[in-house]
Amino acid sequence: MIRTLSAASFKAAKPELLKDVTGRRLHSTYDVAVVGGGIVGLATARELVLRHPSLSFVLLEKEKELAVHQSGHNSGVIHSGIYYTPGSLKARLCVRGATLAYEYCEKKGLPYKKCGKLIVAVEQEEIPRLKALYERGMQNNVRDLSIVDAKGIREREPYCRGIMALDSPYTGIVDWRMVALRYGKDFEEAGGTVVTESEVNDISMVKESPAGSTEGMEHPIAVRDKKGNEVRCRYVLTCGGLYSDRLSQISGCSSEPRIVPFRGDYLVLKPEKHYLVKGNIYPVPDPRFPFLGVHFTPRMDGSVWLGPNAVLAFKREGYKVYDFNPRDFADALSFRGLQRLVLKNITYGIGEMYRGVFISAQVKILQKYIPELSLSDVLRGPAGVRAQALDRDGNLVDDFVFDGGVGDVGSRVLHVRNAPSPAATSSLAIAEMIADEVESRFKL
Ligand SMILES: Cc1cc2nc3c(=O)[nH]c(=O)nc-3n(C[C@H](O)[C@H](O)[C@H](O)COP(=O)(O)OP(=O)(O)OC[C@H]3O[C@@H](n4cnc5c(N)ncnc54)[C@H](O)[C@@H]3O)c2cc1C
Repeated sequence: MIRTLSAASFKAAKPELLKDVTGRRLHSTYDVAVVGGGIVGLATARELVLRHPSLSFVLLEKEKELAVHQSGHNSGVIHSGIYYTPGSLKARLCVRGATLAYEYCEKKGLPYKKCGKLIVAVEQEEIPRLKALYERGMQNNVRDLSIVDAKGIREREPYCRGIMALDSPYTGIVDWRMVALRYGKDFEEAGGTVVTESEVNDISMVKESPAGSTEGMEHPIAVRDKKGNEVRCRYVLTCGGLYSDRLSQISGCSSEPRIVPFRGDYLVLKPEKHYLVKGNIYPVPDPRFPFLGVHFTPRMDGSVWLGPNAVLAFKREGYKVYDFNPRDFADALSFRGLQRLVLKNITYGIGEMYRGVFISAQVKILQKYIPELSLSDVLRGPAGVRAQALDRDGNLVDDFVFDGGVGDVGSRVLHVRNAPSPAATSSLAIAEMIADEVESRFKL
């Protein structure tokens, strides 16, 4: 049987083949199936079940545990919403999401630190971009922003050198996986069912119904996993992170934007050097590369992470340099959008790979911000893989993208196509927005 999990454990909930006494395969029915147990899927499933306690919801996750991919491999920053184009979904959902995240952590007793962030200009030429960021942050209604000079930088971060900085005391840190698991617990406590080790590989119309049964009409969508288990439902929401394009494709919706995986390798500061960093220290970003630019990030466990860089990964969920998946690799290389991106940015790409291999090159960049840092102060650390959506012209899709499709299946499915950083920060606001969309699209 597909089991409802105990609140304490999301582990090893295996869906078993559902059979009746004659060995005929049966299925379970739900009003809504959510595919993907990362922070976006969990936040949205939680929001939906809280709004609609009389409906039935199931969340299907392919791994043994929840939130082990992007939601469990990130910088752990509660972003305040500075960088994003005013009026964009990212700007709106990040600013609201940060407020909701702080409120949620307070309410549930989850640990976080509002340790602030400095975006530091170390060269004169960065100052116009820094000031433009300040204006952008003000337009986005980011709280408590100010510009500080070199003295102000030293007051906040005694070991940091820079000529001017944007100070964002509202920025914080949290363990996003812990938050995601708490969303899952809320979902389950409100009556939702979580099924792990269920890798969905087919979303289609129910083909046959038992004679005389009206069930196929009430629950016309069949969601099947690789083991042959089947869930029937009225509507589907997919939140597949690094596999969002493939989930869209199997339901007959568009395969674009495509997801290209970029691995980010972190360095960690040796414990005896933790005193060098108090809060988040970020560079002034290059507007062409939203995720590039190494930063100093304190973690909730007291460690300090430096980085990450961003290099093309040869496996969608590959966290090691040599991780390789032939399908993922062929998929990425044959995609025109990636070929164009690589051609346009070959020098940057090589630079990022070089810094991944030679950490002295990474440390050299970090020394611009903290000159006291030396190569012997750092160790290689963990890695994360970003789901970067790309269009066929080689443009990075910057904003969040949510869409459905047409036809019998498409009109009953909503896909979260692109949920890059700061989707963890924005998760509760994304959940509100998707729940509104699901309600109006599916007339829940
Ligand atoms: C290196 C890095 C640093 C980041 N730093 C920050 C930060 O500091 N602050 C911030 O706000 N954001 C940050 N982000 C972004 C944030 O972590 C992500 O945007 C967010 O976690 C996305 O959540 P998700 O649920 O969409 O994806 P994921 O967490 O990847 O979850 C998707 C889930 O879908 C499951 N799935 C996929 N296919 C199937 C299938 N066929 N069947 C069943 N299940 C399936 C996967 O197993 C996975 O559990 C960072 C991201 C990275 C990679």
